[in-house]
Amino acid sequence: MPFDEIRGQDHAIGVLRRSLAANRVAHAYLFEGIDGCGKMLTAFSLVEALFCGSPEPCGACPACRKMANRQHPDLHLLEPEKGVIKIDRIREIQQELSLRPADAPKKACIVCQADRMNQAAANAFLKTLEEPPGNALLILLSDTPTALLPTILSRCQRLRFNPLSQEVVAALLSARGVPAEEARSAASLAGGSMGKALDITRQGSLARRKEIVEQVINLSPRNFALLTATAERLGHEREEAKEVVEVLTLFFRDVLLSRHGACTLVNSDLQACVEWTAASLSTRGILERLDAVTGAGRSLFRNVNPRLTLETLFLSLAVK
Ligand SMILES: [Zn+2]
Repeated sequence: MPFDEIRGQDHAIGVLRRSLAANRVAHAYLFEGIDGCGKMLTAFSLVEALFCGSPEPCGACPACRKMANRQHPDLHLLEPEKGVIKIDRIREIQQELSLRPADAPKKACIVCQADRMNQAAANAFLKTLEEPPGNALLILLSDTPTALLPTILSRCQRLRFNPLSQEVVAALLSARGVPAEEARSAASLAGGSMGKALDITRQGSLARRKEIVEQVINLSPRNFALLTATAERLGHEREEAKEVVEVLTLFFRDVLLSRHGACTLVNSDLQACVEWTAASLSTRGILERLDAVTGAGRSLFRNVNPRLTLETLFLSLAVK
């Protein structure tokens, strides 16, 4: 993929382009930034440029075509298995990197979630960083670089990747055929991660958020049967109850912002609901509700029964 097609990471890509043009690509990089902001795409493009032998991957040569199909024999991917990168995988990679490249000038290895190496794996990997077999290019990706050994950090050229702006995420979603309104809403909830935005649009969680908020804000202590039935339904599973709490936290945060005149809301698809709630509550009332939601989050964390937690929460939200 040409660097031009990667959005929102002009700084990191500028640094890499200059290194490629000057033929001074580092032997190890650490790309740091949240999941889904373009670290992997950029790593692929850097390897592609190197294999293509041009500062801008041409997209047409055999090397670029193999890269586009994710089938280049000289590119190795190292990923956590069940959340951990173990020493066995590091040894396998070391073995692979020590072989002669099949047709690229050198081999390359992308380490996804590099911070998931356990202690033994990290120590073994350190040797690879110190003396890369066959002068291989190593690219580490991490959303939590502080979890990496300082000795690993100091041997990599570190490049910071920013969360994507809402405009970029919305535009990328639209380009994939997501309707404009839904793209804007998903972008506003994605926290700068295209990966998260895609999850939101795929899982129909926008519709679900709306459903949760509408059900909860219409509850009244006078209709206790409906209130308990809603708590029963939404609090059936702990994970679902956690989602309800997360949705309500964002919702009441938006209500507070709206009450004070802010117009950029996280819940942009719930604008009318937010405004209506903001108009019907005092600032103190909104803060009390935010407190109640935070308290419910803590209860769920402490393993209090999810149905009971939501029932208590819904009661405090419904009291006028
Ligand atoms: Zn090429």
